[in-house]
Amino acid sequence: MTSPRVNLLDFDADQMAAYVAGLNEKPFRAKQLLQWIHQRGVSNINDMSDLAKSFRAILLEKAEVVSLPVINDQCANDGTRKWLLDVGAGNAVEAVYIPEDDRGTLCISSQAGCAVNCRFCSTGRQGFSRNLTAGEIIGQLWFAEHLLRNDPLAVRRVEQYPTPGWEHTGRVISNVVLMGMGEPLLNYDNVVTALRLMLDDRAYGLSRRRVTVSTSGVVPMIDRLAQDCPVALAVSLHAPNDALRDQLVPLNQKYPLKELLAACERYLPFAPRDFLTFEYCMLDGVNDSDAQAKELIRLLNGIKCKVNLIPFNPFPDSGLKRSPPQRIQAFAHILLNAGMVATVRKTRGDDIAAACGQLAGDVIDRTRVRERAMHDTEIIQPEAQPVEWLKKLDSNFDD
Ligand code: SAH
Ligand code: SF4
Repeated sequence: MTSPRVNLLDFDADQMAAYVAGLNEKPFRAKQLLQWIHQRGVSNINDMSDLAKSFRAILLEKAEVVSLPVINDQCANDGTRKWLLDVGAGNAVEAVYIPEDDRGTLCISSQAGCAVNCRFCSTGRQGFSRNLTAGEIIGQLWFAEHLLRNDPLAVRRVEQYPTPGWEHTGRVISNVVLMGMGEPLLNYDNVVTALRLMLDDRAYGLSRRRVTVSTSGVVPMIDRLAQDCPVALAVSLHAPNDALRDQLVPLNQKYPLKELLAACERYLPFAPRDFLTFEYCMLDGVNDSDAQAKELIRLLNGIKCKVNLIPFNPFPDSGLKRSPPQRIQAFAHILLNAGMVATVRKTRGDDIAAACGQLAGDVIDRTRVRERAMHDTEIIQPEAQPVEWLKKLDSNFDD
């Protein structure tokens, strides 16, 4: 029986070097392979023309470049695009591309399902299927980046609003957020391999500030990430005290707020910006009162951060409702008046949200990543004079 081929998307630079060394090839072959695959989007080994024929023959026998099969591809009028990707055994995950004037963000998944089971998250409610491999994670960026280079809408955005320093690369995705399906820090090794490829100049060359890991608070892994690959960190908070967070984010029972916030403070010196983001999903009558806003201010006192308020996206049988817009604004203003930075996640691509409902009909309950990928815009400026680090934050904001 022939052994299965390795997926070259699974390897970061060091792993590729080790693989190539194992085939008795020189180290620069690893660099060539990374560039062919990630920079040029080539999957056919025969097309990698500057590799020796003999090396190509070995690779053809032993290796391949495969990303997850696409089940569905939807495009909204504003250019937002979603792919439903088959991860086998009847499961699917989603990747979402969100074009904006000054950036193109890709939201990717790290697991099929999620074991954390947050009360307000349909992914969690579906349970956990499996971790994605490193190749399946980076494969979402590989696939989207190279597909979108042929998408007139994406290319037009890049031409109209070139990202400084990127003029000649032809790249369309400038930011990646791990805010799709799954808890990235519970699939740590594979996520870090994928992160390394995102940052590697031989692959995607993204700056650390433009890659964000969102976590529900896996404390030991926050510390490891600081050492291994410190990218921008978003922490899903959702409650200002342990009693409520225990219910909304069950992982809080293992890593309560005190430990989580201590880990956040330890991460800060390694973070690519000098602040962290806290995500707070606005749930009507659950976590959105004035008193809870004030409790949140006390909780986060002294931590350099931005609070991102996310209007809840309802799903069937959640038993929860989105806070009304006025409530979200009032909550935000309490934070702002205390001198904090608060943003409200903008809902956009309404037509694709409708399509998303249809999607759930096609592929029942397998995935509902939905609008969590929506971008943190509509920055509400603090009325009070911002303190010194906030000014710095503003100037760093769009790097
Ligand atoms: N597991 C990670 C990353 C994926 S979830 C985490 O929890 O951070 C990404 C973001 O979407 C999180 O902030 C999460 O709280 C939020 N989210 C999940 N379900 C949501 C819903 N129904 N409406 C709005 N935001 C949601
Ligand atoms: Fe998992 Fe994040 Fe959903 Fe919680 S919010 S269940 S951690 S994907």
